[in-house]
Amino acid sequence: MISKTISCCRLCGSPELDIILDLGAQPPANSLRTDVSQQLEAIPLVICRCRKCTTVQLTETVSPKYLFSDYVWVTGTSQTARDYSQRFYENVSQRCGRTSLFAVEIASNDGTFLQRFRQNGHRVLGVDPAQNLARSAEAAGIPTLAEFFGLEIARRVVQEHGQADAVMARNVLPHVPDPNDVVAGIAHCLKDDGVGAIEFHWIDKILSELHYDSVYHEHFFYHSLHSINELLKRHQLVLFDVTESPISGGSLVAYFSKTPRPTAAALKDKLALEDERGLATLATWHEFARCSLEHRVKLKAMVEAEIRAGKKVVGYGASARSSTLLNFSGIDSRHLSCIADQSPLKHDRYTPGTSVLVVSPERALAERTDTILLLAWNFRDEILGRLADVGFHGNVIVPLPNDPQLLKV
Ligand SMILES: [Zn+2]
Repeated sequence: MISKTISCCRLCGSPELDIILDLGAQPPANSLRTDVSQQLEAIPLVICRCRKCTTVQLTETVSPKYLFSDYVWVTGTSQTARDYSQRFYENVSQRCGRTSLFAVEIASNDGTFLQRFRQNGHRVLGVDPAQNLARSAEAAGIPTLAEFFGLEIARRVVQEHGQADAVMARNVLPHVPDPNDVVAGIAHCLKDDGVGAIEFHWIDKILSELHYDSVYHEHFFYHSLHSINELLKRHQLVLFDVTESPISGGSLVAYFSKTPRPTAAALKDKLALEDERGLATLATWHEFARCSLEHRVKLKAMVEAEIRAGKKVVGYGASARSSTLLNFSGIDSRHLSCIADQSPLKHDRYTPGTSVLVVSPERALAERTDTILLLAWNFRDEILGRLADVGFHGNVIVPLPNDPQLLKV
């Protein structure tokens, strides 16, 4: 079976779920196709909230094998991610407080983040289910298990490599239907004095900046620091610190350990902020849904106004998020002549549900382009810089955060 509708909360088991936003039936956001006629089945994309534990989640569980078999997003292609990997390394290694580490990363992608640990003389191990990424990580010198991480794989890791000083899970926890199994695995891998780090797209940013494009089938959960803490507590892990991350337009890294450590001031502040803003309330999420429905009308109108003015519009960034944005706002191959993307793995493929051809930025801009729809808006400065480098002049529509903006560059 490709997908299944949940009847109770994935975290606490309560059957009391309130629907928040229906984004329509969409094919998996990363299912770029080489043949435009081969589209994967569209599956309802709906978020709901559990009345008991307040966790916001998708109503549908799509089989991970259906979603991830040929995953084409590669961490290493983003300059923002590469720059951030150094800061992430420093944040984790400082908290470990020792000179020689064994670092394990779950969903290690192409190994970009572990590379920093390796370059600094530490022993590393990656775990990532995508065979193509695991192979490219291995080629770059990062030992990688091509597996879905959970308690079973954690046992194998400990048997073969021993327990770890640092276990990191960057932006993966919301992507697994059974996070309790992953966190049990993390706890199993971690030394008693080790440090765990979980990075997640923070709902404060999702709510306050209207990141409805972060809703896609691979993203089962929309976490707050509170809900992450609840999850950690179930596995006797103690949250002690938090830092901010630029990934996905606004994420947090939660640090935790088996042996309790003093609570950092940054953590106390963030938890208080979540309470103050009412992040977990149903009313806050209903307002989010209302604004998202308004936003898609404004965005489509802005793109159509460009086309009516005789302009040729090209998209920039073929990410999972852009797939949700395009499908939800009804912008497709009738509006965009192509989408530029840095990753060669995505070239000559068509976007899921909206059938826009993805090409290299060089190829996209070789022909006349009047307007760019900046789908990868969370890399806005980086992409505007690249456009300036190649001498692009014209309009740039920045869809998010909040109201769409039209820039003249
Ligand atoms: Zn619940």
